[in-house]
Parts: sequence; C-alpha cells; structure tokens
Amino acid sequence: MAKVYFRYAAMNAGKSTQLLQVRHNYHERQQRTLLLKPHLDNREGEDVIAPRIGNIFAKVDALVYPATNLRALVEQNTLANGKLDCILVDEAQFLSPEQVMQLCQVADFLDIPSMCYGLRADFRAKLFPGSGALMALADDIEELKTICWCGRKATINARLLDGHVLREGPQVFIGGNETYTALCRKHWQLDQPVPPGP
Ligand SMILES: [Zn+2]
Repeated sequence: MAKVYFRYAAMNAGKSTQLLQVRHNYHERQQRTLLLKPHLDNREGEDVIAPRIGNIFAKVDALVYPATNLRALVEQNTLANGKLDCILVDEAQFLSPEQVMQLCQVADFLDIPSMCYGLRADFRAKLFPGSGALMALADDIEELKTICWCGRKATINARLLDGHVLREGPQVFIGGNETYTALCRKHWQLDQPVPPGP
C-alpha cells in the first residue's frame, strides 16, 4: 500500500537536499519520479530546486497551480510516459488541502507514494493550509530538526524587518526587505533573532 509522507521543518533544515537525495536514489534504480512544486508569483527560477548546500539542483517536472488537480496530473503523466514510482513535492506547505487529498487518492487508488517536504508553520506560528492537511492526512510524518541560535530546536520560520521579529501580515509576502530566520518559540516571542549583545 503506497503512503503519503510528510517531512516538515523550519527553514534551513535541509529539506530540499533530502528531497533531491531521495530522487537520486529512485533514479539510480531506474525508477521514475515526478517532481512538483507549487507556483508562487514572487520568485525567479521557481522551476528549479537548488538547496543552499552543495551544487546539486533539479528542474521541476511540473509547477502546481491552485487549479491543478494532482490526481489528474499524475494519471496524465502515467499515460504519456509510463509508470511512476514516486511523487516528490517541494514547498508542500503551499499545496491546497484539496491537493493534499488528491495525493492521498494517488496513494490509495493509483498505488503511488508521495514524499512531501515543507514548512510546518508560517512566520506568525500559524499552520500553512497544505501543512495542516498533511498533518491530518499523511501516513508518515517526521520532523527534520534545525536549531535556533540558542541551541534549542527552531520551530518557527521567523520573518524579520530591520532586525525585528514580525508576527502579523500576509502569509505569503511578495517582495520587500524582509528576511527569514529559524527561531525557537521563546526567542520568537522575545523578539531576539540574534544573541543579545554584551
Ligand atoms: Zn532560541
């Protein structure tokens, strides 16, 4: 029975690196994958997955739009190109709950597993819709750990403006001077994105 896997973390936990490693392992065994990534308006080179570490990268097989039906996409790809062995999704937090359910149907009725990598929560510490649906529906959920500057586990992908933690605003910000950093819950609450000075 094929499963839906969700691997989540705050940023910088090596999600894309692990995704590309899994993809490499499938290809080494002459198995076929479908690499998907949700479309967002705000980024260049969005059809490429390039981890921060190393010089490996991969072009996505298809961008996922809000109206994309993933079950139909997989069925069409299978008809055109043959059997698929695994669906890989980068930035899975941006899937809609309906698309997560479609991946469940791909597992349950087409017997093809999905490996979804994404953020759990946004900079406000609210679940992304895709992450919430994956938390509810995935067969196998695992946290990829990353740490705050203090050494505690980082759970929040904090949005910073002028060195301060922002806790409100739109979930997906397009453009602007914001940066992101992974913080523990305590330092997110205290607005301490870096160690306090002497
Ligand atoms: Zn901390």
